[in-house]
Amino acid sequence: MPKIMVVDDAQFMRVRLKKLLTGQGYEVAEAEDGEEAVKVYQQFKPDAVLMDITMPQKDGLEALADIRGLDPGAKVIMLTALGQESMVVQAIQSGARDYVVKPFDPNRVMMALEKVLG
Ligand SMILES: [Mg+2]
Repeated sequence: MPKIMVVDDAQFMRVRLKKLLTGQGYEVAEAEDGEEAVKVYQQFKPDAVLMDITMPQKDGLEALADIRGLDPGAKVIMLTALGQESMVVQAIQSGARDYVVKPFDPNRVMMALEKVLG
């Protein structure tokens, strides 16, 4: 089954996403900020990433740039909040494949993942 990395500084969000994804048979690794995300990406080598934008240390946009620098084919889906439209545009221009607005609809998350995983 595909491997997914869930990146969010909110623990409840990681827990909810992990529960959803493992329930669908995916293998899941977590990271709580952009810095950790870059490290976990290299070890876990996920097939896709769900990445929060607003995080301490290194935010989702910086982590996206770093991960795409390491792996230009990285499939990253941004997790965004309402009011973050300009950051979403920036993320898509930086190579993010899609975005999901929080609070997320589980079906929307699964659709976005299935689309990027082909
Ligand atoms: Mg956040």
